[in-house]
Amino acid sequence: MIIIDAVKQSIIRQAQAEAPIESCGYLLGKDNVVTENYAMTNIDHSEEHFSFDPREQFAALKYARQHGLRILANWHSHPASPSRPSEEDKRLANDPNIRYAILSLMNGDIRLNSFKIINHEIIDKEIHI
Ligand SMILES: [Zn+2]
Repeated sequence: MIIIDAVKQSIIRQAQAEAPIESCGYLLGKDNVVTENYAMTNIDHSEEHFSFDPREQFAALKYARQHGLRILANWHSHPASPSRPSEEDKRLANDPNIRYAILSLMNGDIRLNSFKIINHEIIDKEIHI
């Protein structure tokens, strides 16, 4: 999956603005190229986990369809932990068709990896930043 630079900058800005709360959103695009960050609300308002708002999920899907885009990944930030899925992240990852991207801001060292997770196991990892 390719993520264009403008999207990387967008999610970094969002995550930095919302830290220490975890940020989240969808990565939209097509043909395996992410061209838009669809920012979502972390309704948990937590520093250690996140949940999407079901109404926003529905709106995001509608927006993507209207613009000829697909949800290629969901992403969230780890303000103070590494760019890899927690046990809870793996447990909650139940869509084998998308990737799960995690932006780490730990100690100011920005890292972005994305993962394919099937049956709650990491199948592959791609390094984006
Ligand atoms: Zn996480």
